[in-house]
Amino acid sequence: MSLNSDLMTRRLAAIPRGVANGTSVFSARALNAEVWDIEGRRYIDFAGGIAVLNTGHCHPHILAAVEKQLHAFHHTCFQVLPYEPYVALAERLNAIAPFKGAAKTIFFNTGAEAVENAVKVARAATGRSGVIAFSGAFHGRTIMTSALTGKVMPYKKQFGLMPGEIWHVPFPVEHYGVTVTDSLKALDTLFRVDIDPSRIAAIIIEPVQGEGGFHVAPPELLVALRKLCDAHGIKLIADEVQTGFARTGKMFAIEHSGVEPDLVTVAKSLSGGFPLSGLIGRADIMDAVDPGGLGSTFGGSPLSCAAALAVLDVIENEQLLMRATQLGEKMRARFAGWPEARNIRGLGAMMAFDVADGEMAKRITGRALELGLIQLSCGVYGETLRFLMPLTISDSVFDEGMDLLAQALQA
Ligand code: PMP
Repeated sequence: MSLNSDLMTRRLAAIPRGVANGTSVFSARALNAEVWDIEGRRYIDFAGGIAVLNTGHCHPHILAAVEKQLHAFHHTCFQVLPYEPYVALAERLNAIAPFKGAAKTIFFNTGAEAVENAVKVARAATGRSGVIAFSGAFHGRTIMTSALTGKVMPYKKQFGLMPGEIWHVPFPVEHYGVTVTDSLKALDTLFRVDIDPSRIAAIIIEPVQGEGGFHVAPPELLVALRKLCDAHGIKLIADEVQTGFARTGKMFAIEHSGVEPDLVTVAKSLSGGFPLSGLIGRADIMDAVDPGGLGSTFGGSPLSCAAALAVLDVIENEQLLMRATQLGEKMRARFAGWPEARNIRGLGAMMAFDVADGEMAKRITGRALELGLIQLSCGVYGETLRFLMPLTISDSVFDEGMDLLAQALQA
């Protein structure tokens, strides 16, 4: 039997420290909301591979779909020999796109790549290059998406010149004392001081900030952004990479606000862990790019498309929208009884609370792991505990995990 400590020694020697590990536990197998490590120890998974496993580990319907595709063919490159699962998945996403009118969808591999391409499409459709993002946002780790990300350390500090014509305005967070009015004033100032709105291609926003701390974008902000975009011909991009696919109790988090974006980036739980991202957009905008301007060798892999089609079935068949709402209510009720839990917030099952500081959050996640619970933190100061358990989790495993967390809070 390999030991976690032996593998960690090999990992440290073989893999750069720039990719950080939240735990020092190596996984051996997993099922739904449970994981077993290489030493045979069981853990409850409240991380879901960072929002990827809304449908749980190794869901039999998803595995069966991937297995079937695997034995038919597993790569042709969509640009060389197209295949039906790619088309069928685009059709299904177009049918549920969170805006009225015709939609088109293209697939890539990672969330960052989806965001990169959202910017490319918005630029092509508008003939402009400016992009506005928010403080605390996370959009990825490529150079463009690092630039859009609203946090310097560790995402930008060491990486030199960032692409130009990117601006940040404050994201409204009540307990940081930043209001919607403050955000809108900052936009107004930006348009007077730095750049005319006629040079802005897009505004990008997470309907609920993920890495930044699970802050819900107030609907009145989204409504105001939509108005501004309409007034100035700017495209509104909803980055739903972390919020998508039932997590918040709707297929897309922006649906809670009633605001219709122009472009939507998706990844993570779209395909239950088989690498896939996508860009869903209004058809006329999506068709602005000339043939060859978009694409990717692996983008929309047949295996990942087969997985995603099965994920959509599971969300429907197992009523995961309702389950997310229910899990969210259960979490709120539980957290309300914990004096350590501050600023309890979220949408559906995308819930979080703060503890006193980042050090305390670290102690709690460390203690949780010792007790058998995989628990993530996040937030600008690392002070937030966030919950991303599979929506397919059973009530008994959910309760067991919450009991472990209650114990860990005493750390
Ligand atoms: N956008 C959002 C909102 C995200 O949460 C993430 C990943 N945490 C990304 C983009 C980047 O996705 P990826 O790591 O797949 O590139």
